[in-house]
Amino acid sequence: MLGLMQDWPLLIHRIIDHAAIQHPAREIVSRSVEGPIHRTDYATLRRRSLRLAKRLEREGVRRGDRVGTLAWNTWRHLEIWYGATGLGAIYHTVNPRLFDDQIVYIVNHAADRLLFLDLTFVPLVERIANRLETIERFVILTDAANMPETSLKGAVAYEDYIAEADEDFAWLSFDEQTAAGMCYTSGTTGDPKGVVYSHRSNVLHSLIVNGADFLGLSAKDVAMPVVPFFHANGWSFAFSAPMAGAKLVLPGPKLDGASLAELLIDEKVTISAAVPTIWFSLLQNLEATGAMLPDLQRVVIGGSACPRAVTKTFRDVYGAEVIHAWGMTEMSPLGSLCNLKPDYGDIDGERWLDLKEKVGFPPFGVEMKIVDDENRPLPWDGVAFGRLKVRGPAVARAYFHRDDEIIDADGFFDTGDVATIDPHGNMQIVDRSKDVIKSGGEWISSIDLENIAVGHPDVAEAAVIGVPHPKWDERPLLIIVPMPGRTPDKDDLIAFMGKRIAKWQLPDDVVLVEDIPHTATGKIQKTALRERFAGYRLPDA
Ligand code: AMP
Repeated sequence: MLGLMQDWPLLIHRIIDHAAIQHPAREIVSRSVEGPIHRTDYATLRRRSLRLAKRLEREGVRRGDRVGTLAWNTWRHLEIWYGATGLGAIYHTVNPRLFDDQIVYIVNHAADRLLFLDLTFVPLVERIANRLETIERFVILTDAANMPETSLKGAVAYEDYIAEADEDFAWLSFDEQTAAGMCYTSGTTGDPKGVVYSHRSNVLHSLIVNGADFLGLSAKDVAMPVVPFFHANGWSFAFSAPMAGAKLVLPGPKLDGASLAELLIDEKVTISAAVPTIWFSLLQNLEATGAMLPDLQRVVIGGSACPRAVTKTFRDVYGAEVIHAWGMTEMSPLGSLCNLKPDYGDIDGERWLDLKEKVGFPPFGVEMKIVDDENRPLPWDGVAFGRLKVRGPAVARAYFHRDDEIIDADGFFDTGDVATIDPHGNMQIVDRSKDVIKSGGEWISSIDLENIAVGHPDVAEAAVIGVPHPKWDERPLLIIVPMPGRTPDKDDLIAFMGKRIAKWQLPDDVVLVEDIPHTATGKIQKTALRERFAGYRLPDA
């Protein structure tokens, strides 16, 4: 017997419809690429998205077609997500920080028909335009007054483009499993792989992460996703904020500390989200100016491990709680967030910081396990570590146009991360499986060492890689970028770290560098560092 409840497919346009009906005047504030602050609201955004959908339909865009974006977080980018998906077409966010060849590969592989690009990226796209095999039209996200001279054939200003249609359009209806969005993982080896989100997975993911113990967005919140929409589905903010009726603040192209501080303060942001490097520069800026953040309550930090020192500074100086988050593009992307269960009792001080180094527990809708190399489950004792596997309705089961099997017989996806889980279900990322340092049969977490090193006042950024050792197989090498004007002493640094970690895990050597390479999504590029230090000999090796 079937239930007798209504069939209400989980389609993305229902989110913007809800926001426009229930929270029509709630603001979306963007720093425009042209410069000035732009203000709109959910009712207007919906109307403009309908207009875009109608224009796209007239262009011949149909269900399943891919619409590429090379764009910062602004109201126009949001309109493309809603306008395209309301037709059954697919938003495909392309990361502009990738190399030209990777962008060409991704756009061709996805067979994008249109490319919407910000003014910032006109030179980039002009460079590669003749290699983009499937693009029929370039739409530049600006108005006629700001339209640049460009060699892009048939390029049109977005405002002119949508002015050619009116908003008298009804969203199309289709199966909730229909593809809605695409994002390629920046894979450190091989070609980038396309993750394909569905309407259902995006709607469920937003519902799931809006739970009180996770992002917990509400209509009272002012949410500023600094994490770009082109990074891992924008950590769900494009959907979860309108779903909750939260005010949205979008930082556009300016992600430096001063610009972010200005928006955080002026727009009274209550929750913000970004990778750790963004917060380093914000904190440096705040320290220099003495500005405070009286409205900020929650700071979501993920993408890479959040150093303890950052969590402590936000707590002690700015009265904001860091919510350490873990996830990946393949998971829509949020997998777990560190809000503490009551099981730990009333804790504060250093113990609270210890627990905040972990990445928390998953919401309903994300199942997790850690297994050994034979796929046998490992205990949740906070000590045993193994491969982290996940399953759920917003987790990928395959990549676009690839045959790789990515889920095991039980339907679990191997994240490539190594983790421990404590008896209360609090998970800790030990490392990427390919980054752990294998020393004499034991594993050393590069993440642990990096976190400890950046706690030293002379260290701005730290990376640890394993280098070959004749006796131990591999030993850790610490690579650091010093704080401006400082030259940390190696022995002093090792002594500092020795107070926080077992002696056998301490780095064998320390080198100072001017900069550490990052991937297009802001992670330390360990492969490049391993190449750079390929011939490195440790002092006792
Ligand atoms: P991406 O798909 O680009 O978001 O990358 C996902 C990967 O980033 C994960 O598999 C982890 O290796 C890493 N990652 C994400 N969040 C964290 C975190 N809080 N701590 C450590 N690593 C993280």
